[in-house]
Amino acid sequence: MKLKKQDSQIYSLINLETERQKNSLQMIPSENHCSPAVREALGSLLTDKYAEGYPGKRYYGGNQFIDKVETLCIERAKKLFKVEHANVQPYSGSPANMAVYVAVCDPGDVTMGMALPMGGHLTHGWKVSATGKFFKPIQYGVDEKTHLICYDDLEKMAREHKPKLIWVGATAYPRIFDWARLGKIADSVGAYLAADIAHIAGLVVGGVHLSPVSFVHIVTTTTHKTLRGPRGGIIMVTKKGIEKDPELPKKIDKAIFPGLQGGPHENAIAAIAVCLKEASAPAFKKYAAQIVKNAKMLAEELKKYGFDIISGGTENHLLLIDLRNKHIFGADAQNLLESIGISTNKNSIPFDPAPPFKPSGLRLGTPAITTRGMKEKEMKQIAAWINEVIENPGNVKKIKKEVTVLCKKFPLPK
Ligand SMILES: *Cc1c(COP(=O)(O)O)cnc(C)c1O
Repeated sequence: MKLKKQDSQIYSLINLETERQKNSLQMIPSENHCSPAVREALGSLLTDKYAEGYPGKRYYGGNQFIDKVETLCIERAKKLFKVEHANVQPYSGSPANMAVYVAVCDPGDVTMGMALPMGGHLTHGWKVSATGKFFKPIQYGVDEKTHLICYDDLEKMAREHKPKLIWVGATAYPRIFDWARLGKIADSVGAYLAADIAHIAGLVVGGVHLSPVSFVHIVTTTTHKTLRGPRGGIIMVTKKGIEKDPELPKKIDKAIFPGLQGGPHENAIAAIAVCLKEASAPAFKKYAAQIVKNAKMLAEELKKYGFDIISGGTENHLLLIDLRNKHIFGADAQNLLESIGISTNKNSIPFDPAPPFKPSGLRLGTPAITTRGMKEKEMKQIAAWINEVIENPGNVKKIKKEVTVLCKKFPLPK
């Protein structure tokens, strides 16, 4: 009520965004709707407190309660992910990944990661990212025919270039990773292996995907994607990581503070703690399983309408469509879907002949619509709408009305 009086411009923009989220389907796979409890912690006056350092070792006074908040968050992360060490201070996923480089690499060291246009993340060594400028990244991709990671090629590359650090994790890869094989490859070349589970963290803790924890040294994640928390990041060290390098937890903590960051956002850390509690409840297992069931149903239905799904389907929360046989670019499909109230994003497909700002693909996912309670039946309907509007853009008005009706039936978390 205060904001409305004090800053009516921001107040009304927040209202407009709230209405947009309510009345359309959020199908960008990296997005979700966190709970009001998470938002309450995020909006608390914990944002006012400086707490540089770590629980029990702060550079400021008055942290007796803040210490308890951060410790609770760390303990919940360790228990949920089954790791030895957790740092919950990264401001987001990218700073978390940067801290891993700072912890285990020197500038100019050889690193390895999946190339961005193949489904990898900027921070895995893509050239415009600082991680591509300060280190020497070798980039792997997927097979041109199967669209799956070719582990034989990856192994050959690792043996040839002897990277200090190998990243595995993706933003647009619809398949599960062979963590056991990756663990062996990293061990054979003496590299640190980091699993970046930003997209799939919710699927891992929900028990639908095999956890990488026993195969890798380091795990990084965002907290706002399938994990359904506030924006943030976590870096974890596994038992295997400590066996390789007993100093690893210390190196990670030092890389975050004082290496890269100043005061931690304790309001966000409190909200992450709330999200971790939610993610350890039995209901979250059901949620995680439904995300994947929904994505699979969506992929199967779209295939029936002749859509070309990269890798032939999905095993996680997202699908990538190669739109070339539908004679529409990703950006145009994104705009068309937006006009009926379905929010997705244009995306490069592996070996995309089109340039990155005009890619041939569309990426969509089910985490947020599954949070609203949608199931297989709704996925069939959504696939039908996607097909209808791409086949017949003249039907926009009619379909948008139908989408709004569905949105009313499945409100945002209350
Ligand atoms: C989203 C993502 C990140 C970065 O997260 P931000 O919070 O946007 O900085 C890092 N790695 C992967 C694989 C991601 O999908």
